[in-house]
This record gives sequence, structure tokens and C-alpha cells, in this order.
Amino acid sequence: MSEIETIATGTTAPATPLAAAPADKPTLVGMDRAELAEALAGIGVPERQQRMRVAQLWHWLYVRGASDFSEMTNIAKDLRTVLAGAFTIHRPEMVSEQISSDGTRKWLFRFPPRGAGRPVEIETVYIPEEGRGTLCVSSQVGCTLTCTFCHTGTQRLVRNLTAEEILSQILVARDRLGDFPKGETPEGAAVPSEGRLVTNIVMMGMGEPLYNFDNVKKALLIASDGDGLSLSKRRITLSTSGVVPMIERTGAEISCMLAISLHAVRDDLRDELVPINKKWNITALLDACRAYPGLNNARRITFEYVMLKGVNDSLADARELVRLLKGIPAKINLIPFNPWPGSPYECSDWEQIEAFAEVVNRAGYASPIRTPRGRDIFAACGQLKSESEKMRARERIALETAAPAHG
Ligand code: SAH
Ligand code: SF4
Repeated sequence: MSEIETIATGTTAPATPLAAAPADKPTLVGMDRAELAEALAGIGVPERQQRMRVAQLWHWLYVRGASDFSEMTNIAKDLRTVLAGAFTIHRPEMVSEQISSDGTRKWLFRFPPRGAGRPVEIETVYIPEEGRGTLCVSSQVGCTLTCTFCHTGTQRLVRNLTAEEILSQILVARDRLGDFPKGETPEGAAVPSEGRLVTNIVMMGMGEPLYNFDNVKKALLIASDGDGLSLSKRRITLSTSGVVPMIERTGAEISCMLAISLHAVRDDLRDELVPINKKWNITALLDACRAYPGLNNARRITFEYVMLKGVNDSLADARELVRLLKGIPAKINLIPFNPWPGSPYECSDWEQIEAFAEVVNRAGYASPIRTPRGRDIFAACGQLKSESEKMRARERIALETAAPAHG
């Protein structure tokens, strides 16, 4: 398989994409154990062997990070050949990998069409920090919602990602970071979580994860499976703009950490910034938060608040925020607004963010300002996909200039 070179700081990868998976075979990635057993039954694996084979596949896919059946050395060669004839476990096509001067990485993936559609592209971002590394994963191509400060919100929804496509973002990130164990890892051995580069997952890329609940749930349950990728559910955070009816199920069925994109403390303003508020207002949202299964002081909800100059950043807003969240085990994350071309807002002044943070701090919430990362590669919140689209538009213009169209 061709490999992309390590790419120079802040530049796009040259056009040597990783090979696309053959689109004609069903993938085993993203199947749960019952589906894997069914797939094996379909190629004639006898029932008494299925459990053992499923465990072997699971280990190769999610502990060892295998992307080719030939790696599965404890599975008989004949069976490997049959598996490879019927299924694929290929990684998706990686169009580019960008590495920021601060170590942040951004990948652009292309997924094949599902049904009559066309190929789609999404972005995934890796943010290394002291002692941990967070992968920001996308759940949809575009978004049906139209939050006014978010660039993804200006792009229409193309489609939901499948469980495989959500999970693949984690698998490729681990491949590229060298995060799968090398050498012998006996089946059944404890999976070392020490020294891993991807320690945390946030569903904060493109899309509204609770509008793609089934696929997100499936992918996250596989990611947190103790015999596989083994990411702790306390290190997986799902961010929602406020799809209230799905919040309870998120806690009960995924039991991951929850983040809420609050961004305003009054309904009239939130109706404008986060239009889903017209359907489920602040009271309904906070009631759902209070009832979030598994909520306690060790498992708090994160409230995200984007700092928009002169819009939602007054000290009265800060005080109201603290009042609203009273009684909810909460963390507050102030996000400096990341502007995009044509965006109707400016980021609040730094002094204002600090003054706002001070009010929040005094109420007992610690270190709430999120530092923007990967700005040189446009990897910040709300900027995903758009820059790649823009870059391609620029390339098109350059091409057209170099070779003017006939006629
Ligand atoms: N759809 C989900 C998750 C994806 S957005 C949600 O809305 O929660 C991830 C976070 O980035 C959200 O809190 C979102 O409000 C924030 N965000 C979007 N655009 C932004 C921008 N331009 N600057 C800063 N934060 C932004
Ligand atoms: Fe969609 Fe979230 Fe962006 Fe709103 S902030 S448009 S919900 S991705």
C-alpha cells in the first residue's frame, strides 16, 4: 500500500492518497459481534467455530489494527482467502494529512457513495496535549442544522456517516500516529492504555451526532469495547446542539460523557444562534441535562459557550450562565469564536473573555477557556471541511487560469 510521506508543517499532502477500499465487498469494520457471526455463517464457518473466529477477528481489527486479512496469522490460510474473497477490512481513502506547527493533525477522508449518491469527504482532527491526545471525529457530512456561527452549518447535509466510517476515523488516526501495538500481542492479553497517543474521543467534528444516533452508538460501543480499542467511556464525549429527546438514550445506551453547545443564556438569542432552540428551548434542554443517566460530580456535563463579541459575552450573560447551571454537575468551556470567510461575528476581545471567565471561575468552575489549536491548518471548531473545499476551489481556479477552457 502506498504511504503518504510525513507532510511538512502546515501544508497539504501531495496527491498520493492511500488506496481506496474496493467498494464491491461488504466491510467487517463496524459490525458488532452478532453481525460478524452472521457474516461468518454466510461463508460457511460452522456454528461451533463462530464465537472463536469472531473473537479472533475482533482482536485483529481492534487490538492489532489489521487492515488486511493476510496479517491474521492465527487464522488458517484457506479461511483467510475465503474471508478476503467475501469481505474487506480496508481503510478508507485518505486524501490528505496536514500537520500544524503545534502538532495538531487534520485528515481529509473520502468515502464511497452509498446508494445513488456521490463520494463524500469529511475531516478528522487530532489534538496532542500534555499527557493526552484528543481525536475530534465527524458524524455527518455537512449538517441539517444552521447555527449562525458555524461554517458546517452553512453546508447542507449530504448524508449520515455509517458506523464503519465513524470508526475508521479512529483506526486511521491510530495507524498514522503509530498507536497500534507492534509485534506480538497475545490474544486475550490486557490492552495497554499507557503511552497511547489517542486517549480521548470527542464527537465534535462535522455534523450533529444525535441526528445519526444508531451509527454513532454502534461506533462508540465498538471504540469502548474492553477487548478491542478499549477507550474508556469517560474519555469519550459526545457534543450536541440540543437534540433533547435523544439525550436520555445517549446516557442510557452509550454512557459516554456529554457536552452541550449552549452558547446563549436567553431563548431569544439562542433561537438565533442555535436554531434547534426553537424546537427544544433552554429549559427543556437543561431539564434533560439534569436527568442525564450517570451524572454525578465525577461525571459532569460540559457546557460549550462560543465567545461572540457584543452578542453573548457580557458579564450579565456570565452571571446568568452560572445561575442557569446551578445544581447541574457541570464544566464550562469558553470557546474563542473561530472566524471563517463571510462569518457574521467577531471573536470577543481577550480581556472580555477573561472577565467573563473570572465570573465563571468565581462560581467554582475551573480553567474554562479552550485554546484554539491547529489554526494554521484550519483545524479549529466550526471550520471543518470548508477550508478543504475552498482550497480545491482555489486549485480549480489556478488550473483554469493555466489552461483556459476552449470555446
Ligand atoms: N453538532 C454538534 C457537534 C459539532 S460542533 C454541536 O453543535 O455540538 C462542535 C463544537 O464547535 C460545538 O460546540 C459548536 O457550537 C462549536 N463551533 C462551531 N462553529 C464554531 C466556530 N466558528 N468557532 C468556535 N466554535 C464553534
Ligand atoms: Fe451543526 Fe453543530 Fe455546526 Fe450547529 S454547531 S451547524 S449543530 S455542526
